[in-house]
Amino acid sequence: MTWTGGAAGAYARCVLAPNPGHMTLEGTNTWILRAPGASRSVVVDPGPLVEEHLAAVARAAGDVAVVLLTHGHPDHCEGAAAFADRAGCGVRSVDQQWLIGEAPLSDGEVIEVDGLALRVVASPGHTADSVCFLLLAASALLTGDTVLGRGTSVVAHPDGALGPYLTSLRSLQELCAARRVRQLWPGHGPVLEDPVVVLDGYRRHREQRLEQVRAALAAGAADALEVVQSVYADVDPVLWPAAEVSVRAQLEYLRAE
Ligand SMILES: [Zn+2]
Repeated sequence: MTWTGGAAGAYARCVLAPNPGHMTLEGTNTWILRAPGASRSVVVDPGPLVEEHLAAVARAAGDVAVVLLTHGHPDHCEGAAAFADRAGCGVRSVDQQWLIGEAPLSDGEVIEVDGLALRVVASPGHTADSVCFLLLAASALLTGDTVLGRGTSVVAHPDGALGPYLTSLRSLQELCAARRVRQLWPGHGPVLEDPVVVLDGYRRHREQRLEQVRAALAAGAADALEVVQSVYADVDPVLWPAAEVSVRAQLEYLRAE
């Protein structure tokens, strides 16, 4: 089913950016969060620098207290500075290079805006600077690119790394179980139900791929490309460049074992 964004419960609305692609699915999800009846909102991942998209986000967001970034990939953060300028607010992220007038995000911190409480959950792996945001009031976790609405994510080697990614998936799974999180709101693709099942599936998928990479190496694959051709034979070749990035992360992980 095609994802088009829209309302997600009483606290959130997703405005879909017009940048669909193999890696971005239907486009980047820009999430606008606001407590019911509150005047100010929080915008997560303004998305690419596309004027019509930023204008649509501004219309839906009204007064914006702050812009938050799940990580520093351009399809999430490229439009952040222009949007913050238009909204008259700051930008917060883990990576200091995107900050505007605000402090960097820190793990475990709770961001409060007009009755909205968002907890920052560090989730390095897809990138070193990846975070999720826990919105307990909506029983939802915003996952950025750590978990996507469809398919699987990429470990963006060398910035991203597999060891931290597997650790993040495990701790997010524990968090979702402990806090009874009922939905994942990803950076691309549709809202996901059953977070614990989804996160468990992500981790198993990664471990399965690792086994396949080990087997490909044992069978004589000499480099990342040969591993991709063997392990990702079932995947559309347009995704092979992305797969090669993930394979490099897996080879690095195996070398460190
Ligand atoms: Zn990304």
